[in-house]
Amino acid sequence: MYKKIVVLLFFACTSYFSIAQSIKSPDEFLGYPLGSKYTPHFKIVNYFKYAVAAMPQVMKLDQYGETNEGRPLLLAYVATAENLARLEDIRKNNLRLTGILTDQPGNTDAPAIVWLSYNVHGNETSSSEAAMKVLYELLNPANSNTKEWLKNTVIIIDPCINPDGRDRYVNWFTQMSGKNANPDRQSREHVEPWPGGRTNHYNFDLNRDWAWQTQVETQQRLKMYNQWMPQVHSDYHEQGFNNPYYFAPAAQPYHEAVTPWQKDFQVTIGKNNAKYFDENGWLYFTKEVFDLFYPAYGDTYPIYNGAIGMTFEQGGGPRGGSTVIINNGDTLTLKDRIAHHFTSSMSTIETVNKNNEKLMKEFSKFFTSEKNNGVGEYKSFVISDVNSTRINALKKMLDGNGIVYSTAAISNAKGYNYFSGKEETFNAAGSLVISTYQPKGTLVKVLFEPKTKLADSATYDITAWSLPYVYGLQAYAVKEKMAVTPYIAKIINTVIPETSYGYLVNYSSFEEAKFLAALLNADIKVRFAEKDFTLNGKKFQRGTLIVLKKGNESKLAAFAAAAQKMDVSVTAISTGFMESGNDFGSSKTHFIRKPKVVLLTGKGVDASAAGEVWHLFDQQLNYPLTLINADDFDNISLKNIDVIILPNGNYKFLSDKEQGAALKTWVKQGGKIIAIENAVTQMANNDWGFKLKKEEDEKDKDKKDEQKVSYADIKLFEENEHDGIKSNVAGAIYKLDMDNSHPLAFGYPNYYFTLKQDGNMYEFLKDGWNVGVIKKDSKVAGFVGSRIKDKIKDGTSIGVQDFGQGSIIYLSDDPIFRCFWENGKLLLSNAVFFVGQ
Ligand SMILES: [Zn+2]
Repeated sequence: MYKKIVVLLFFACTSYFSIAQSIKSPDEFLGYPLGSKYTPHFKIVNYFKYAVAAMPQVMKLDQYGETNEGRPLLLAYVATAENLARLEDIRKNNLRLTGILTDQPGNTDAPAIVWLSYNVHGNETSSSEAAMKVLYELLNPANSNTKEWLKNTVIIIDPCINPDGRDRYVNWFTQMSGKNANPDRQSREHVEPWPGGRTNHYNFDLNRDWAWQTQVETQQRLKMYNQWMPQVHSDYHEQGFNNPYYFAPAAQPYHEAVTPWQKDFQVTIGKNNAKYFDENGWLYFTKEVFDLFYPAYGDTYPIYNGAIGMTFEQGGGPRGGSTVIINNGDTLTLKDRIAHHFTSSMSTIETVNKNNEKLMKEFSKFFTSEKNNGVGEYKSFVISDVNSTRINALKKMLDGNGIVYSTAAISNAKGYNYFSGKEETFNAAGSLVISTYQPKGTLVKVLFEPKTKLADSATYDITAWSLPYVYGLQAYAVKEKMAVTPYIAKIINTVIPETSYGYLVNYSSFEEAKFLAALLNADIKVRFAEKDFTLNGKKFQRGTLIVLKKGNESKLAAFAAAAQKMDVSVTAISTGFMESGNDFGSSKTHFIRKPKVVLLTGKGVDASAAGEVWHLFDQQLNYPLTLINADDFDNISLKNIDVIILPNGNYKFLSDKEQGAALKTWVKQGGKIIAIENAVTQMANNDWGFKLKKEEDEKDKDKKDEQKVSYADIKLFEENEHDGIKSNVAGAIYKLDMDNSHPLAFGYPNYYFTLKQDGNMYEFLKDGWNVGVIKKDSKVAGFVGSRIKDKIKDGTSIGVQDFGQGSIIYLSDDPIFRCFWENGKLLLSNAVFFVGQ
């Protein structure tokens, strides 16, 4: 690939310089021994900056982005001087091996790329400390081992994926502990306050976000990841402090997309780790707890992208402080935790160095197979409602993952209809086609296939995420490779014509909800139609937004600007007289009062659930939201509040008679409560009108079961792990029948796919609106335990109760789970802007 002589000469010169150079260790640079205290993020950044200045021939440092709170996100590249000088060539060659770059064939006789990611969970702090030591030993000219390894590896280090979370923890810990850290686990420095440092600024778990990329940290990092496509990715974590170290091989269930080679090489890496841990007499475990299934982890995502992805877990976490006495009486210190992460990092690099040839060939094979054979049973996923604005969010997500899509070149096709659950013929003309014959083919299979095979249900996370359900898009899974033409993006050039009377805006997805929020922010007066109507021979759906010229004279330019920016469908009108349906002066046309919205947050509230709503309003709807701590609730004035959102949590005031009565009075006077998940359960248990279904028959049956244990029921001791699973809903997709004549369901067809994560079922409301109900056999995908499978039917999942002049909206499932459950965002928006207007 290159001229050897030139390179050898170049190598000789640069290694002369490297030998002449030296670098301070983290201890020397920081002025304290690593592990004696926590290092704030800026000092980690300083060390990396110092290192690149000291050793520029063998290290490169890039800032690839910034966190919500403005902290830098860094990638360090460490290579031999020779490889660093041709780093761009190495990167391109690597992309050629994947088929992402197609200008020429790739060469497997090349350095392997090892990507080490530290501190994705901010309060699992030892790993970023270890990152400094790893960097130092890779650079340290006196370390001959690492110099040998670097000959055929390029190391990419992300010293801290989640700097905002890390500093939240480190700053707090530093304030709470004295000169002498306290190993007593009851002392305050071991008990982190709400919301904790695990998550990012908006309380998102970044190790659940890889595929979805809802967060800025992920978006910016994945852009880099897809430019490199490493052979190995290691993700460093901490777990409860009593646990020994965990490294690969991972636990079951493995997704069926994991290849035999990926499984094998996890074992190879694990065995080398074991060798060093054995030498030190350290305890560890493998093959348990940490599975390979859900696609948005730091191990599975790289695996579905052809790499060996691995999770490493050190005992410690936030409760470990910087020193702690564990159950066996030993003291676990931050220094120990750093030593373990450092050792497994080094051992991983060594294993890659020793297996370069095989690793590179297998990596290349993974992508050649995708290119030649596609992946899985279904080779093409076809999205047929291409004109829906819902498709925008999907395309953004596919782009973020480097997934290529095309347009169908045929019209007659046959495939599995996601919405009917049947094999059907359909018209594919103009549809969006996502093929598995591409470098991201495995990821495509994992994200799109209608049902994911689950070998063992004891997983760590949800078991269903098939994208057509997540995005609410009509789709088909087709077994053949389809003829396609390149996708041509629609040119957005919405011209908003002058109007004598006003405008109509189609309302069918979260895109239009964002537009509505923009109009309300600009104090534009907006109405919506409660029923379908016809004007100039064109039918408009209920929910259509109506913006009249009268009253908005000075705001029409702002209206046009927002419509152009957000690409919504606008129709200019010259009359309020409808050919069929209600005229705009009718009581069936509702004026939208701009609501003041409060989100309850803080202690007792599920931080992630609150974070989702916060992110939705702040970053997506761009609509004002007031965050109030649930603890302060009895002290606040409800007078100027229109909407209170209760995310998943446990609210003291709901169980308090006096406060409950005050809240009811507020609703009667026109207030609106949006209760989600456990807030719904709690209201059901406290006489708010919505009732949990009591399964009397089932209870009787259970009693009988308790009395008589048959031989078939007795279990072996070794089966104890799986007993709980029978009552488990690990996160499964259910089809709800929707009453889309209710404003809560405007923009939806008469069904909606919900992610169900518990076994709760609610009684049909007699005096309210059963907007989303589960009939019999409504499970579409995912795992549900045998014990509660029969319970999830014939009940309400989404309900609305009119209460005096106000209303209560019950959303028993999380409609915006991790903010990747795209299709539920409209539901929450409708609850805020439409219901009760
Ligand atoms: Zn973790």
